[in-house]
Amino acid sequence: MSYQLSKMRLTLKRILQALFLAVLFSFSTLAMLRTLAATSNNSTATIERASAGKEEPPWIKNFVGLWPDRSLRSVLDDEGNTFAGPVIDDNDNHLFEVTTTTTTSSTTTKPHTTLDDIFISVKTTKNFHASRLDVIIKTWFTLAREQTWFFTDSDDEEYSEKTHNHLINTGCSASHNRMALCCKMAVEFDTFLESNKRWFCHFDDDNYVNVPQLVRMLQKYDWTDDWYLGKPSIKAPLEILDREHIPQKISFWFATGGAGFCLSRSLGLKMKPLASGGKFISIGDKIRLPDDVTMGYIVEHLLSKQLTVVEEFHSHLEPMKFLKQSQIADQITFSYSHYGAEMNVLSLDGFNNQIDPYRFLSLHCHLYPNFSFCPR
Ligand code: UDP
Ligand code: MN
Repeated sequence: MSYQLSKMRLTLKRILQALFLAVLFSFSTLAMLRTLAATSNNSTATIERASAGKEEPPWIKNFVGLWPDRSLRSVLDDEGNTFAGPVIDDNDNHLFEVTTTTTTSSTTTKPHTTLDDIFISVKTTKNFHASRLDVIIKTWFTLAREQTWFFTDSDDEEYSEKTHNHLINTGCSASHNRMALCCKMAVEFDTFLESNKRWFCHFDDDNYVNVPQLVRMLQKYDWTDDWYLGKPSIKAPLEILDREHIPQKISFWFATGGAGFCLSRSLGLKMKPLASGGKFISIGDKIRLPDDVTMGYIVEHLLSKQLTVVEEFHSHLEPMKFLKQSQIADQITFSYSHYGAEMNVLSLDGFNNQIDPYRFLSLHCHLYPNFSFCPR
């Protein structure tokens, strides 16, 4: 009897144990499933945020409009400034990760132009890769890596890598003649049209581009209107013979390529039937003038649109030393040149002339003192 009773107790105990185990198992399964669901929700959110981040462009979007007017320096200063950025590393893609709240005005109908709306092209040539591109890559290119493209005339693995595959071999000839220069400009222009960006800005490889100022300047203009923005290097419009109606003359302004210039998409689209697909080269050939002059001819003469002068663009046809340190942050482009021993460069405190003969490193540190290579 007692044997039977103890056997029954044992069975009951086993049933209870089994029940307990079953309940425990279902609870842990449930808990596991919930954790899994939460993780997958999180990763969806992360992916969504990442793709939203791609459309909502990079650092500059948070900055624009919030920068104090006079000084970029204060934006990046560490001392008690809400906009202070981290110490900047050349290889850091997220150079200006700052936490700011973006204020969007409900009254503005068109969204602000941001860096990501600009197609920035730099004309270069194989002989200048080594001597001119390094300083660009080290300085202002780091602020606009995704938006800037170098147009050259040869393949160059080293500089393809240095520019993160942003070096385009146009297939144009490597010389400074009119045809070669118009050929490169034609490819720059066609690539802009394909890019669907709002603005096309061209620069030479001896330009320093003050990227935030470029963005801020373009924000003042409507890309859906026709804009040709740049700076002439001559005091009066250029006069040439109209080859089709000799001896008539025509005159027009053009923006010097060496100072940089920008075209709005609206104007680019009006130029397209005349200048795309290599027609730019034919026009340059017809008037027998260089690429920047051909641009002025197309815009001002063929399309009857006017150049708008932007004083903050500077080529080395101007004496660089006349730009005062206090004005520098407001300028958009700078350049340099040297004829023998005579240097036309910015007069700026900073690195010595051996390290920084063209003053672009010092200029960059003047604008962004927190950059990794800047003295502190
Ligand atoms: N350039 C070029 N092919 C050449 C020589 C120059 O594409 O054979 C480019 C050069 O990279 C620069 C622009 O043309 O972007 C102007 O060249 P440079 O500054 O040497 O001369 P500048 O016209 O300013 O005196
Ligand atoms: Mn030059």
